[in-house]
Amino acid sequence: MAGYTPMMAQYKEIKSKHPDEILFFRLGDFYEMFFEDAQLASRELEITLTGRDAGLPERIPMCGVPYHASEGYITKLINKGYKVAICEQTGDVKAKGLVKREVIKIITPGTVLSETVLSDANNNYIALLYEDDGKTTLAGADISTGECFYGIYDSDTRRQELFDQLYRLMPPEIILVEALSFNNELKEFCNLRLNHCSFSFMKEVSLDDEELLNVHFDHNEQPQSTYARKGTAALLRYLHDTVKTDLTHLNRLTYLDSTENLIMDTYTLRNLEITRNLRDGGKKDTLLGVLDFTRTAMGSRLLKKWLEYPLLNIGQINARQAAISELIDTFSMRNQLMEALKEVYDFERLLTRIEVGTANARDLVSLRLSLASLPKIKESLKDAKSDLLCQAFENIELYDDVVNLLNHAIVDTPGISLRDGGIIKEGYHKELDELRVIARDSRQMLQDMEQHEKDTTGIKSLKIGYNKVFGYYIEVTHSNAASVPEYYIRKQTLANAERYITPDLKEFETKILGAQEKIVSLEYQLFVEIREQIKKLIYRIQKTARQVAKVDSLYSLSEAASRYNYICPKMNTNGEIIIKDGRHPLVERILERELFVPNDTELNHHESEIMVITGPNMAGKSTYMRQVALLTLMAQVGSFIPAREASITPVDRIFTRIGASDDLVSGQSTFMVEMNEVAQILKYATKKSLIVLDEIGRGTSTFDGMSIARAVIEYVRDKIGAKTLFATHYHELTDLENYSERIKNYCVAVKERGSEVVFLRRIIQGGADKSYGIHVAKLAGLPKVVTERAKKILADLEAEPTKQIKHMDTKVVKEKAISANEGMSSLFANPLNEQILALDVMSMTPLEAINKLYQLQQEA
Ligand code: ADP
Repeated sequence: MAGYTPMMAQYKEIKSKHPDEILFFRLGDFYEMFFEDAQLASRELEITLTGRDAGLPERIPMCGVPYHASEGYITKLINKGYKVAICEQTGDVKAKGLVKREVIKIITPGTVLSETVLSDANNNYIALLYEDDGKTTLAGADISTGECFYGIYDSDTRRQELFDQLYRLMPPEIILVEALSFNNELKEFCNLRLNHCSFSFMKEVSLDDEELLNVHFDHNEQPQSTYARKGTAALLRYLHDTVKTDLTHLNRLTYLDSTENLIMDTYTLRNLEITRNLRDGGKKDTLLGVLDFTRTAMGSRLLKKWLEYPLLNIGQINARQAAISELIDTFSMRNQLMEALKEVYDFERLLTRIEVGTANARDLVSLRLSLASLPKIKESLKDAKSDLLCQAFENIELYDDVVNLLNHAIVDTPGISLRDGGIIKEGYHKELDELRVIARDSRQMLQDMEQHEKDTTGIKSLKIGYNKVFGYYIEVTHSNAASVPEYYIRKQTLANAERYITPDLKEFETKILGAQEKIVSLEYQLFVEIREQIKKLIYRIQKTARQVAKVDSLYSLSEAASRYNYICPKMNTNGEIIIKDGRHPLVERILERELFVPNDTELNHHESEIMVITGPNMAGKSTYMRQVALLTLMAQVGSFIPAREASITPVDRIFTRIGASDDLVSGQSTFMVEMNEVAQILKYATKKSLIVLDEIGRGTSTFDGMSIARAVIEYVRDKIGAKTLFATHYHELTDLENYSERIKNYCVAVKERGSEVVFLRRIIQGGADKSYGIHVAKLAGLPKVVTERAKKILADLEAEPTKQIKHMDTKVVKEKAISANEGMSSLFANPLNEQILALDVMSMTPLEAINKLYQLQQEA
């Protein structure tokens, strides 16, 4: 540190331990940044870059933000993915020499607790990935709500599932431990799919950290395998090193068990717009948007989770259905609940702020109001009969003591700051009340003193004032200077007045200022005591909060069901999905309901496993297919669904491949991306899955595309046996129905009136025989000359069968396109080619060759 001033040496020393963070270095009333940090921060925050003498010949770059306004700046940096280390003056500021400084916390995108960064409706997860033994452990937490979990994925075979999990969590920060074998792939995925995700790195995990598991979690919740223990412990270590508080609110660890939930990959989650729309990732126009009538932030986060992790277990699904039914049928219960939930604040996050010591008096008022509404919530559930609501009734504990304490102690509308007083109510603490009397009385005394001085000096304009530098003073204008008594001591001269003090005034000052100071510090101390007292109850209040969130989610689903006329689907185990008059939950909201045409669905394993749906563009094919996927998913969430009647078997996975792909990354063609996705589906789908494929094979030549489409259907039928909806514009594929019992043709009904065509939006059995493409082109506004010309070309083509795909010998296609593994190259190879390829040219004599040629020529 040669050459640096002592303070700069101190800075360099601290900064060396925080190379990845922007160091906010407290200097009096400012946080200062130096060197590269200053350059970066001044650019990102648009604040002036200055210089500072650091003991070296050249000044060093510096910029700073005022301490009291720092939160906004920190928020800005966090939102941009940076991490900020807060270095405070922890020693005695008044002592001589260099004051001691320490980093008291680090704020990162995944650990931020500021309300301005967190959004009510979303969790703020941090995820850690640790690879060992061919397994990847994902450890995650939302420290703002106290949630903690882990999952284990086979590094090779279940990587996609891990990515899908990350997509659901959408963590703004991911910690990578050591080298991950699939690092590049992960980063590519994150860049593409996770908005502004920032990475942190950690060296090898330490076995000592495993002790942290015992500190936070019950033994039976802890992971068994060493790698998962290490991964989870590493996350706790990171959180402790970052947040630097005891984090007792992280007290439950759950295992992400993918066998318990319906699995959807990222593509499906995105494409069905379940919780985020494709447009901007927001909630508008998503399934969540339609179903979310929650009254609390916790409820809304939970509902989102329910939609992202639908259930497999019929018992659990039935339990939710029963609760929703009951709420629909018992209007008074639903209504009472709605009213009571209205007053519940974001409990989970309030508790976290109490835990980490950032809760202010306003937070405690919010907590009081939330706790005070619990009796009303409980009361509304007192006659409940369904299991989930009964459980909630039993497990929602009341906290009258806390409510009373807070009522008694904290004023109703406190300020934000804890250091200005005005937060503790009168009557709560005797000494505080006494000090307040002194402070109040002294105000009167001050007025009396002013009057007294006016009377004795005869100066009518004399007044007593106060400023920070001189304290209390007596101010007399120059024109009255002659009347100032001897014992006034002059302190300050202004343009038109003099300021004086007197011994009496100073004595008074000590008393009044002392009282004020004591009030503020006593109030703070009392507040912290109350906060600590509540902290002891966090674990119990958290349990109640979870029940409230659950009730709120159930309420929300019941509200959606009754508003939109949903019915309760029967859940079955016989492998059937039967829906009568099903509707698309989003499209029916966007159209007016009367305009939406309901449709039936019948899928089972014995006779209608695969629906091949043909029909013109814009007829409603993809709407229908999404509808089937969405209704199945909703049923597995436990929600009611838009239909007249339904019986649904839980599916293990939903795969979709719908619409144009937007994954044009790393130079892959649309076709390549599509084939990758289809490959994934064929690899992971099971007999219990639901597959929705829309127009696959579009991005290549007609023959190629059609062959692939056909081979895929055959593969699904023979090798997988999953329920499948397959939309295609290749009419040729409708003949598949003739070869298999389990494939059924459907089309969208169309009515032709003269040259006019009307899409009826009704899915009916049978194959469509016309594509009406020209009709759609006309609707889209193509010039009439073009559509007329197209009609003419079409007529010509139809008159000349050899040019038409439609007349291709589909039997040949069927025989050749047997297995998806065989590859497509030989599909349309002709016998002549095959014979030529079969020849061993190198071992033939010239004569043999000529003879063979002659023979082939005869045959051709
Ligand atoms: P396709 O996939 O056949 O090209 P879409 O499913 O995209 O057609 O549907 C085209 C439009 O038709 C949709 O934007 C929607 O507004 C409307 N539509 C689809 N299905 C229905 C229906 N059942 N009832 C009313 N309108 C529908």
